[in-house]
Amino acid sequence: MSDQREIELGDRLGAVRQRVEQACVAAGRSPDDVELLPVTKFFPAQDVVRLTRHGCTRFGESREPEAGRKAGEVRSILGDGADIRFDMIGRLQRNKAKTVARWADRVHSVDSLRLAEALSGAAAAALEDGGRTAPLQVMLQVSLDGDPGRGGVVVADLNALADRLLELPGLELAGLMAIAPLDSESARWLAAVGETHARFVEAYPQAAQLSAGMSGDLEEAIKYGSTCVRVGTAIMGSRPILSP
Ligand SMILES: *Cc1c(COP(=O)(O)O)cnc(C)c1O
Repeated sequence: MSDQREIELGDRLGAVRQRVEQACVAAGRSPDDVELLPVTKFFPAQDVVRLTRHGCTRFGESREPEAGRKAGEVRSILGDGADIRFDMIGRLQRNKAKTVARWADRVHSVDSLRLAEALSGAAAAALEDGGRTAPLQVMLQVSLDGDPGRGGVVVADLNALADRLLELPGLELAGLMAIAPLDSESARWLAAVGETHARFVEAYPQAAQLSAGMSGDLEEAIKYGSTCVRVGTAIMGSRPILSP
């Protein structure tokens, strides 16, 4: 039983998958090395369920408590056996660490030791009481323009934060994440992100993931080494304007 919305999502998802594949071919990379993460913030649990029927298993969310509620709803619709994972990709306050550590498989947006410590405590507690079965994967959000309003840690502080993070229980360092600065030329910016990640991986080989690129610049991001493109609008359509 597929409804109109499911067909529409399938069509747009197919088009984005094709973009990712073509970008991989153009960059001489294997399509298996780049993950397409649909971003479902502002859209209902039913849309996530519709995307699972098109083969999606992992989703990006950026707002708590919307995300936690939605993850619970999706799991109750699909049942416990379904392998569905949710990533936290947005700005995260420390007081939300407790709940996020219970639904998130991965957090892309860690940018301070205090946040990492809060997530560590929450993830360790969840591991102990069965609230999660695997350590929380974390990526460090890197800021290339140093704009504090957008979050992220500046490149000069990256390794110090990574060193501390490696000592924290319940967490696993998985990679870096970057959000495009507002007024940047995307090719130059993404080239810098790629270089930063290449240097980072030399020091931290386990941090192989690079979360970069969205609806508008995923081709360029793939060209410069992204392993995970976070795509909202191009799959879901324009986000509705509403408050939580
Ligand atoms: C919403 C969001 C995206 C998706 O952006 P689109 O331009 O709609 O593809 C990606 N990353 C983050 C952190 C977001 O909050």
